[in-house]
Amino acid sequence: MEISHIEHIGIAVNNLEESIKYYEEVLGLTCYAVEEVADQRVKTAFFMVGQTKIELLETTDPEGPIGKFIEKKGQGMHHLAFAVKNIEAAIAEAEEKGVQLIDKAPRKGAEGLSIAFLHPKSTVGVLTELCENKNSK
Ligand code: ZN
Repeated sequence: MEISHIEHIGIAVNNLEESIKYYEEVLGLTCYAVEEVADQRVKTAFFMVGQTKIELLETTDPEGPIGKFIEKKGQGMHHLAFAVKNIEAAIAEAEEKGVQLIDKAPRKGAEGLSIAFLHPKSTVGVLTELCENKNSK
């Protein structure tokens, strides 16, 4: 598949507001957006670092994917997201190569991106997200 860059790194946090403080006051980054993604039952906060973003994720539901992740592993790095040229083609290629898919078709993520997750069992232990920005086309 054609990957152009790391789109973002997703980090699961207990408390979005407290976590934003660390990124702003210690690291000196600026939170440019806070958005709730109902589909994934999370509230997200975004920081730009070069062309890569940091996405903080706080669950809005203990039974949601981030709620379950934090219960099992505590807060910390949750997923790695790659920007791809064509998400449908990237999903098809991953499937063809035997990767276990979480999403067989793209769905809508934060910032209006089309996203799909690959299962960490097939990606050497890192939950992997593919993203295509169809807004800019
Ligand atoms: Zn993400």
